Amino acid sequence: MVLYKCFRCGKQVSHKALEKRFICPSCGSRIFYKPRKAVKRVKAV
Ligand SMILES: [Zn+2]
Repeated sequence: MVLYKCFRCGKQVSHKALEKRFICPSCGSRIFYKPRKAVKRVKAV
């Protein structure tokens, strides 16, 4: 199961829930990211 994380409220939403509507059930945001694949962080040296 793939979990997405809401960018706005941080709630984890399963991709199944997002299949119907790509929208956060709790805050209505449409911006998600995959916690697993993650956010690339470039460290400025
Ligand atoms: Zn949300």
